[in-house]
Amino acid sequence: MGLQALLDKYDNGGFTKTGWFQLKDDGDTATVRLLHKGQIGVEEGTQEPKYDFPIFEVHKLDVDGSGRDRTVLCKGEACELCKAGNKPSLRMFLQMINLDEKDKDKQVQLWERGLTDIKQMLGLTAEYGDLTQRDIKIRRSGAKGSLKTTYQYFPKDKSERNVPEPQNLVGSLILDLDREDQIKAIEGRLQLSKGNNNSGGDREDSSGVGASRVF
Ligand SMILES: [Zn+2]
Repeated sequence: MGLQALLDKYDNGGFTKTGWFQLKDDGDTATVRLLHKGQIGVEEGTQEPKYDFPIFEVHKLDVDGSGRDRTVLCKGEACELCKAGNKPSLRMFLQMINLDEKDKDKQVQLWERGLTDIKQMLGLTAEYGDLTQRDIKIRRSGAKGSLKTTYQYFPKDKSERNVPEPQNLVGSLILDLDREDQIKAIEGRLQLSKGNNNSGGDREDSSGVGASRVF
């Protein structure tokens, strides 16, 4: 592996850049097909809209002393990371087919977004319904490195396209730790098993999706 590839790999918390969606500079665009429908009905009882977007409260921290931050699921009231003062944030882990990616094996990509784009997605599904039915062009507005970068979304007309089921990222990309492992993580001494980003042992990864595979 060349140095640049190694740098890219370690920049992404051990995941290879393959599989990560990105628009690098101002005005860059890509056309994608989301693997998430968006609104999928209403919650029983409250009648609030129900969504299939993978949105989680997570913590970012260096769990194993490697110097790289990992994503850890927040456990709410019983969360040791919250108690230790690590602030959780709301993150969305969008999975999509990047239609501009020429290499078919690398077309399914992951894009982690925060509050602004979560709201954008809620707006899009409110207006357009099932978002797996259309291609969406995404345009970056903001220069490389700018903290004010935003994204615009342009849904296209409905068209047929086969989309795979999105992967469950909890237990692989998003670590789901019990109390004991949370404490180890806070102290930076959690042992991450190789090729699988969870704490190992108790959670069989039946899909065979490990941290080293795409995402
Ligand atoms: Zn928490």
